Amino acid sequence: MAARIIDGKAVAAALRADVAARVAGLGYRPGLAVVLVGDDAASAVYVRNKDRAASGVGIVTRTIRLPAVTAQAELLATVRTLNDDPAIDGILVQLPLPAHLDQRAVIDLIDPAKDVDGLHPINVGRLHGGLPGLAPCTPRGVVKLLDGVSLRGARAVVVGRSALVGRPVAAMLTALDATVTLAHSRTRELEGECRRADVLIAAVGRPEMIRGEWLAHGAVVIDVGINRLADGRLVGDVAYAECAAVAAAITPVPGGVGPMTIACLLENTLDAAIARRACDQKSVQRPFCSQSP
Ligand code: NDP
Repeated sequence: MAARIIDGKAVAAALRADVAARVAGLGYRPGLAVVLVGDDAASAVYVRNKDRAASGVGIVTRTIRLPAVTAQAELLATVRTLNDDPAIDGILVQLPLPAHLDQRAVIDLIDPAKDVDGLHPINVGRLHGGLPGLAPCTPRGVVKLLDGVSLRGARAVVVGRSALVGRPVAAMLTALDATVTLAHSRTRELEGECRRADVLIAAVGRPEMIRGEWLAHGAVVIDVGINRLADGRLVGDVAYAECAAVAAAITPVPGGVGPMTIACLLENTLDAAIARRACDQKSVQRPFCSQSP
């Protein structure tokens, strides 16, 4: 039987519509600041897409473009200003930064309550501790695509252990009661590990590395990979046709995880706005905040 194709475009569109409806009911418009340093063409496209998607759901965006030669102190000062700006609910510094800048120091300075990328150590710690916080967007998207898949007690194999994708996905699946194996480039017998998976998440960055014969019949496959081949084609980390012949459900590339990332950024911004403003009114505890009790 052919695999069910998990339509990330449709799920992302539904999520954007939901965020738009919730924003419309707020009585104010959440603010998202995106900091773009340098003139990397791919980053500029991402930032434009984020801007358009945010405006589409009623989130006010402010894009701060800084030249590639920006000094570390100037970038840190920009982040501080955004931290202190009450109109800004979410701050996203587009990565990667030019090589002379200290990415870690910049991320560490972002107010955890506004860290819509979920990369600040406070949010990373909260996620891995099973506490509420802002979680990274792509992993959130991965988990949303698994909606309806029974995860309790399921064997999940995550291939790739990056801080951006693999590790947070593993933490989220653990919180959802899956039994998680986190595989990486040093994993022995990766193929055998994959074959045991009820749910396989590929986040490797190697075109079509996961083959159909690596899968158990009926596995659910989420392909995070985005790889541009020499002939211009875009493929995932999973050999799609082979795997679709074996899997119960699978995400395509493009049109799977990709569209979820920006939709989850919008949801994170909305969540951050609601949580921070509620905190500021002292009506609830500050679940996302580290700076005051
Ligand atoms: P990284 O390069 O940061 O991490 C790759 C991971 O894959 C590492 O943990 C690495 O292991 C592991 N790996 C590499 N080669 C092998 C191998 N032969 N066998 C097993 N594991 C291996 O990549 P990211 O996590 O940032 O991204 C992964 C993919 O997802 C990329 O294609 C990227 O473009 C895509 N992506 C897509 C997004 C989206 O919105 N859809 C967002 C972010 C990423 P080790 O740790 O041992 O080096």
